[in-house]
Amino acid sequence: MALVVQKFGGTSVADIDKIKNVAAKAIREKKAGNEVVVVLSAMAGETDRLIALAHKAAESPNEREYDSLISTGEHVTVTLLAIVLNSMGYRAKSFLGFQVKILTDKAYKKARISLIDTDAIKKELKHGTIAVVAGFQGVDEDNNITTLGRGGSDTSAVALAAALNADQCDIYTDVDGVYTTDPNVCNKARRLDKISYDEMLEMAMTGAKVLQPRSVEMAKKYNVPVYVKSTFSDKGGTLVTKEDKDMEKEIISGITYDRDQAKITVVHVPDKPGVAASLFTPLSEHNISVDMIIQNVSAEGFTDLTFTVSKKEMKEAQKIVDATAKAVGAKKVEVDDDVAKVSIIGVGMVSHSGVAAKMFKTMANESINIMMISTSEIKISCIIKRKYTELAVTALHDAFGLEKKK
Ligand code: ADP
Ligand code: ASP
Ligand code: MG
Repeated sequence: MALVVQKFGGTSVADIDKIKNVAAKAIREKKAGNEVVVVLSAMAGETDRLIALAHKAAESPNEREYDSLISTGEHVTVTLLAIVLNSMGYRAKSFLGFQVKILTDKAYKKARISLIDTDAIKKELKHGTIAVVAGFQGVDEDNNITTLGRGGSDTSAVALAAALNADQCDIYTDVDGVYTTDPNVCNKARRLDKISYDEMLEMAMTGAKVLQPRSVEMAKKYNVPVYVKSTFSDKGGTLVTKEDKDMEKEIISGITYDRDQAKITVVHVPDKPGVAASLFTPLSEHNISVDMIIQNVSAEGFTDLTFTVSKKEMKEAQKIVDATAKAVGAKKVEVDDDVAKVSIIGVGMVSHSGVAAKMFKTMANESINIMMISTSEIKISCIIKRKYTELAVTALHDAFGLEKKK
């Protein structure tokens, strides 16, 4: 008997018929003799709807109430699935985050799981119950409901799989696996049979939303094999696992894009020790992550400092930076959210020269201006105008020959 965790995303639970399809998939595992834990997202579009409601109610909604509100989409789907399973004669029980107890820190909107109490679920599994757990939500030590960041149900599933020592963690979604790039943007994208945790993490962190970055981090840490599969077909699938010797050692294995980007420039900052610290410390104190940072060459003791943040945090970041910019004597702060980040990912990049040059040449051939560049051992990212995202992704996919299996 194996313990299987199955996670279904928003499009997989978008209506009652789809929830019945999910029930069939859970029953299939059960009939195969396995213990089954199902983790669900909210119905497609529901979390967005709840977020919009919160912002209609107040410009800056109270964070505690905001998390409590946006977690309710998952309350609906887990109870509906349990109702369907019960009506079909199967033992099933829904669990919200606090009922499990999925304990998190206190960082509303992007809480991290610190501990999962597995007793309640294990007890139910022993009785043959299918446990249906709400993804995306947890509870802090003072019983406040928290959420794990957009796409957080993936992390709920992997964390549960790790805590329960599951044999398998299946992430069911609306595509049949992880591709060389988003198959909904580039029709030449190719499905990968396997991908290493490191490459998947880099792809997820640079925008491939098929898995939330934290879920990959956790899968790697606890060595959970993750299968990305289609809810709507039994074909395909991608295994996310440890790097092994039969894995493709491509120079470039994937292209990603991220439209959730905003660029902030602090103009004419005095170029002296401590200025960067005074600009970035208040941002980190407000839990705002800064991604790329560029500082121009200093001219006459002044410089421009540009960095990127998530578009969702742009307004808050701007407010904070406006205040510190004044304090350090900068001229002004400019923001631009009409941008996107396009990245190329590949573990083979380290040992090959000319990869960056090829990326820049490809962009130049399409007349796409590069505003910012950042590199790591296995990634090169460029900030470009948002409207060129699809063009850049397709051109890079072609240029690096990702369509054909080598
Ligand atoms: P779910 O609601 O099931 O969690 P998501 O929308 O979060 O689904 O993630 C699936 C989507 O991820 C796909 O529809 C696809 O457009 C997008 N995606 C982006 N990059 C990739 C990639 N490299 N491979 C597969 N899907 C990708
Ligand atoms: N419902 C949440 C979201 O839309 C969590 C998830 O789908 O994983 O972000
Ligand atoms: Mg998702």
